[in-house]
Amino acid sequence: METITINTRSREEALDITRQVQDAVSKSGISCGVVVVCVAHTTAGITINENADPDVTSDIMSALAGLVPRTGSWSHVEGNSDAHVKSAMVGQSVTVPIEGGRLQLGTWQAIYFCEFDGPRQRRAMVQMLSSG
Ligand code: ZN
Repeated sequence: METITINTRSREEALDITRQVQDAVSKSGISCGVVVVCVAHTTAGITINENADPDVTSDIMSALAGLVPRTGSWSHVEGNSDAHVKSAMVGQSVTVPIEGGRLQLGTWQAIYFCEFDGPRQRRAMVQMLSSG
């Protein structure tokens, strides 16, 4: 297993970590299989979406902020309930097929680490399974 360290710079942002995941796959030497990328946090998430137009991830983050306001009638005393809810909505892992040693993403797809309560140092675990 490989670990990717991600230093986020604002409370909320989506960071493209596709290159780091591909680097981990390349380093493993696996030609064919799957890679699972997991975020080890309760106030961050991971998703796959468009990388061609940065407005897409910006719109996704804005939509989540609109759906889940930071302030409100939250019970959780840490004051970051919105981040926990957004993390639950986005999810904590993605699975991508590997063929020819390359991530099999669509032309416009990238893997995004979604920060909802930064800035912080974060970790994503990358586990690869070879199918021969
Ligand atoms: Zn909390």
